[in-house]
Amino acid sequence: MDHPEGGKHSIKRGLRTCDAKVAGAHNCWEHHMAIDFSVDEEFQEQLDWMRTFVDEEIEPLELFYDDMSATNWKKAIAPLKQQVRDRGLWACHLDPELGGQGFGQVKLALMHEILGRCSTAPNVFGNQAPDSGNSELIAIGATPYQRETWLEPLLRGDITSSFSLTEPHYSGSDPTMINTHAERDGDEYVINGHKWFASNASNADFILVMAVTNPDNPPHKAASFFIVPKGTPGLNIVRNVFNMHHPYPGHFRSGGHAEILFENCRVPVENRVGNEGDGFVLAQKRLNGGRIHHAMRWVGQCNKAFDLMCERAISRSTKGQLLIEKQMIQDLIATSSAEIRALRLMALHSAWVWDTQGGSKARVEIAELKFWGAQVLHNVIDRAIQVHGAMGWTMDLPLAKMYVLARQMRIADGADEVHKSFVATKRAKGYTPVDFGWPSQHIPTRKAELRERFAWLIDNEMANH
Ligand SMILES: Cc1cc2nc3c(=O)[nH]c(=O)nc-3n(C[C@H](O)[C@H](O)[C@H](O)COP(=O)(O)OP(=O)(O)OC[C@H]3O[C@@H](n4cnc5c(N)ncnc54)[C@H](O)[C@@H]3O)c2cc1C
Repeated sequence: MDHPEGGKHSIKRGLRTCDAKVAGAHNCWEHHMAIDFSVDEEFQEQLDWMRTFVDEEIEPLELFYDDMSATNWKKAIAPLKQQVRDRGLWACHLDPELGGQGFGQVKLALMHEILGRCSTAPNVFGNQAPDSGNSELIAIGATPYQRETWLEPLLRGDITSSFSLTEPHYSGSDPTMINTHAERDGDEYVINGHKWFASNASNADFILVMAVTNPDNPPHKAASFFIVPKGTPGLNIVRNVFNMHHPYPGHFRSGGHAEILFENCRVPVENRVGNEGDGFVLAQKRLNGGRIHHAMRWVGQCNKAFDLMCERAISRSTKGQLLIEKQMIQDLIATSSAEIRALRLMALHSAWVWDTQGGSKARVEIAELKFWGAQVLHNVIDRAIQVHGAMGWTMDLPLAKMYVLARQMRIADGADEVHKSFVATKRAKGYTPVDFGWPSQHIPTRKAELRERFAWLIDNEMANH
């Protein structure tokens, strides 16, 4: 049987086994290629520098984030950003033609593990969401005008952006349902629709909006992206939606998640990114590499929570014993340790598949990583809170804030169920159904078929039992 990805499969009794010699075959964990996550000495020095820089410069400053105005925060991180630029580590996720270093995903993953210990570190390194994904999306479809006006300032970190796809009254899990429309009127498009959860929209210099332009096309070719600059008439930001992270007014320094009404909002034709109908293709390209970086940042967050959990377990005693001596606490620590290591290996493996076989071959691995990693992140922080008792729930420790941010990861960027559904469908694809009758591993059937082959070994009396 032909492999769905172009290689060969040998099918035995309905179950599928991969031909290990076929390059690019889908479930790479079945192959015996050497998996190599090592990096050269020069890059290791960069990682060592990053670790010290994040621990000694960014993390201490972040403690005062809530005590500073947005202007002072910008002032505070400007010299740090310059140091990152001087080391050649600014916006490394970008392709070389956009100013990146061409590091590949494994190296980027190792960098993001370090950045993950600190929520503001990606900002200092020029790869914070949603700007990092938006710049990649615009870069794919950008005209020279868009490059100069929007992309280059965004890459330099001079302006910020937002991404607006989700709508309150239609399922964000199925973007073919979006109801926001952009109709062509001469040299302009007129956008009408109702969006929400556009992160950073209130602060952004422009919003990248997905809207239906070609309703008669097949659903995946019906929508396009538009750059809508801040202040455009008809771009009405209704509110920042209160949520677990920003429960009250005044918590929106970092941009919040906005509800937006587009009411006859006109943008020039040159603000359309890519061709009409390219929306879905562009949206998909935007997220995949970023998901590996997210997952490695989650490893960084998990490590931080794990460090705290262990410190507490060896410091606090109750009923004459340290917590570390209690088996239920040992379970929390051991399970967390195993889960973090598995998550790290999954993320690095996804990065390695990307680097060795191309991004499109890593889609299933990345979808697994997304839902599994978000769950591990949530579990490990939850256990660290538990081991700290009441203190874990207070704002005296970073854990409570980490927990709130972790919870959103199971929904943002695609709910767990959507990724699971994608993985299950893809993984099951190479198998052959049993038309009728017993499963392929039905033991009595198999033994009957094999009896002749092994007849000389079978003791008849025993086989009849
Ligand atoms: C913190 C945060 C930031 C976000 N930032 C942005 C942003 O910047 N821009 C933007 O456009 N959007 C953003 N979103 C929105 C996010 O992308 C959507 O919330 C997400 O895609 C789910 O869409 P929905 O909320 O409409 O839920 P629905 O699609 O209505 O799904 C609700 C629930 O139904 C279940 N479900 C859905 N599909 C399936 C399925 N196929 N099988 C089984 N169960 C299913 C899941 O349990 C899911 O959680 C953000 C969300 C959060 C929480």
